[in-house]
Amino acid sequence: MPDFPDVASGFPVMLDLSGRRVLVVGGGEAAEAKCRLLAASGACIMVVDAAPAHEMETLAQSGAIALMRRAVLPGDFDGVRLCYVALDDAEAAAEVVALARVCGVLVNAVDRPALCDFATPAIVRRGPITIAIATGATAPALARNLRARIEAAVPAGFGALAAFCGAWRERVAAAVTDRLDRRRFWDEILDGEPADAMLRGDATAATGAMQAALAAGRPRSRLGKATLVGAGPGDVRLLTLAAVGALQRADVILYDKLVGPGVLELARRDAARIDVGKRCGRHAMSQAAISALLLRHVRAGLHVVRLKGGDPFVFGRGGEELQALQEAGCAVEVIPGVTAALAAAAAMGIPLTHRGVARSLHFITAHASNGTLPPHNWPALVQAGGTLAIYMGARTLAATAAALVSAGLPAATPCVAVTNASLAGERRVFASIVDIADRMLEADGPTLVLVGDVVACAARSARTVEASRAA
Ligand code: SAH
Repeated sequence: MPDFPDVASGFPVMLDLSGRRVLVVGGGEAAEAKCRLLAASGACIMVVDAAPAHEMETLAQSGAIALMRRAVLPGDFDGVRLCYVALDDAEAAAEVVALARVCGVLVNAVDRPALCDFATPAIVRRGPITIAIATGATAPALARNLRARIEAAVPAGFGALAAFCGAWRERVAAAVTDRLDRRRFWDEILDGEPADAMLRGDATAATGAMQAALAAGRPRSRLGKATLVGAGPGDVRLLTLAAVGALQRADVILYDKLVGPGVLELARRDAARIDVGKRCGRHAMSQAAISALLLRHVRAGLHVVRLKGGDPFVFGRGGEELQALQEAGCAVEVIPGVTAALAAAAAMGIPLTHRGVARSLHFITAHASNGTLPPHNWPALVQAGGTLAIYMGARTLAATAAALVSAGLPAATPCVAVTNASLAGERRVFASIVDIADRMLEADGPTLVLVGDVVACAARSARTVEASRAA
């Protein structure tokens, strides 16, 4: 077995670091990642490095860390609870580790298992909650509940898989020396036949597949690739498992303004995040500029996630990005998301199609590129007699309603305008098609309008819910 602390046989503790001193020796990328990890613990982080990287300076300016621009001194360990050593030079790292041990400080040398007193466990974060199996007997029922969920989510074979990975770790490190290559190599192992075989309990097949992968050398995915990911309407629970997987493997994430606040928290901690929806003056980054940025990162060999609100292919301009990437010969994958209409309808209990009430569903936009109402075939939409889901419809709502009514839609047809569907500030306005524009106040977020008889039954049930709450 490799010579590194076995987390499974270690003694798990939840260490309170709030207000405690943690020393980080090193000022590069690995040290920065540790600082970001530690930031959530409330520790007082002191970083020592003679020539810290720019990012570390930025962290220091933000007040997240105290930065000493010099070599480490014995006095630096006074009152320190934990120490991380993130130095490229093995000898220098060993010296600092020895110094820490003399001072009685527990030390972790990044990527040097043999020099570690403790391991930093992998953590699963869901917003503000850190999932750990120990609950200190404060809530035995909750502990049982959590354990059942984790057991259901993680197949039993993962224990054997972890041991398998541990047994191969040194050989992989020796064969695949580049850090990024190595990470991708492991990603492919865990997504591929070696892990599948281990999870099936076939260790012989797993070993064979691992040997074949190592013989092939570099990971296949060394070439960059793009994944267009639907982030859903905002609520993180509406992300797909595939979307979460892509976020956890991304090197770079390009996201737009509709992406829900909790979604990016699920991304790999050290992925670069670029807000391409940020308004400069009044304009977000142009579509051409976004496509160019995507291409540039993919060509640099990175895994780029293009994260878009709702579904990438529903009024998301995902088609244009897909084309640009395909034309440039880049590998690209699309992961669908829950589009706003589906989320809004589900939240209100509106069946978008309903036996005897609505046989079709049309997704339309009420916003042409020049900001006016697009020239839809309104009579055809009305004659179809189904449900209309109107995207980008807040500003042109009066014109939309007038167009529908003059095309023959009955004046009493029920509608609902939903702002911030699935988010904390969700707001719904029910009215008939002739009243909806007047009833809508200024929308303070993305707004989706549903029009059709199905809305009436949902409006009743929504009132029923409100009534029963009041009772
Ligand atoms: N690709 C997205 C749509 C982008 S167009 C999707 O599939 O949902 C932007 C429009 O989507 C907004 O003007 C609004 O009509 C709708 N929208 C997106 N998110 C929304 C939300 N959380 N609540 C209400 N409408 C939303």
